[in-house]
Amino acid sequence: MAKYIDNKTGFKIIEVSYKEITSWEGFGICDHCNEKINLSINHFYIPVLNHCVCPKCKDEWERNAKFYPEDLAYQAKNIEWLKKYCIIEGEEDLPRLIIYVLYDHPSDFPNHFLIRRHFILGGRIKPEKGAFIVSNDLDFLRQKLKKMDLICIPRDETDDPVIIESWI
Ligand SMILES: [Zn+2]
Repeated sequence: MAKYIDNKTGFKIIEVSYKEITSWEGFGICDHCNEKINLSINHFYIPVLNHCVCPKCKDEWERNAKFYPEDLAYQAKNIEWLKKYCIIEGEEDLPRLIIYVLYDHPSDFPNHFLIRRHFILGGRIKPEKGAFIVSNDLDFLRQKLKKMDLICIPRDETDDPVIIESWI
């Protein structure tokens, strides 16, 4: 199971096994030194870089990394991406699947398009309160979802009329 490891950079570092690396079709080489991944030892995913590195390169990065709080949003996005492939220790109970639902001017945001996340948790679907992203521009929202590597599921005729489509 992937797990966060203690470090002093201010960023997260996640220890991952070879099996987990192959689950997201990683290349099997360290993103820093290009050394082939040794199957018998764990490697490290550094979300703020979106790199997977060997233990030696992890230590080196840890010594030299500079912390910039503006990078935390990118880090969070990459952790969400990783969670599509791995369960992270201590977060086993968090929702495994998030559906991003695109809305057309729903009653709580009558002037906007928006994305609202629906979390699948314990066999139930729970929409978040409020919105994930709000915009006047439907294309902008669709581009965001595409950039998150999600795929579009067309609306079902039984969906609420304010639902345009869903992305997972
Ligand atoms: Zn390396």
